[in-house]
Amino acid sequence: MKKEFTVNSSKREELVDITDAVQKAVRESGIKSGRVFIYVPHTTCGVTINENADPSVRHDIIAGLAHAVPHLAGFRHAEGNSPAHIKSSIIGCSKEILVENGSLILGTWQGIFLCEFDGPRRRQVIVKIWSD
Ligand code: ZN
Repeated sequence: MKKEFTVNSSKREELVDITDAVQKAVRESGIKSGRVFIYVPHTTCGVTINENADPSVRHDIIAGLAHAVPHLAGFRHAEGNSPAHIKSSIIGCSKEILVENGSLILGTWQGIFLCEFDGPRRRQVIVKIWSD
């Protein structure tokens, strides 16, 4: 079963919590046990799973990636957003999560985030759900 939803990012770089939207897609699928694949069909954003309790963690992930991937004078990509493309490749554009009893198996502090690296933009999230 495939479902889609959109995310409107509001900043150039931010982590948007999409946990509830993914859980809603799982619930609507009616699947009790299986797995869910979350995919963003974009080249300057990504998907990650990390702490959703302290918002400082989201800030620090953005700050750490900015430190790891500075804008270099030698970049050739004419659009000027090579750091966003590189961060997208580092984070990756998909995640897979197990489903049990109709719920995502996530740790107490884990959430699913769309990682925006070149916003604000309208982003598409594709969720594919399989039953065991
Ligand atoms: Zn580009």
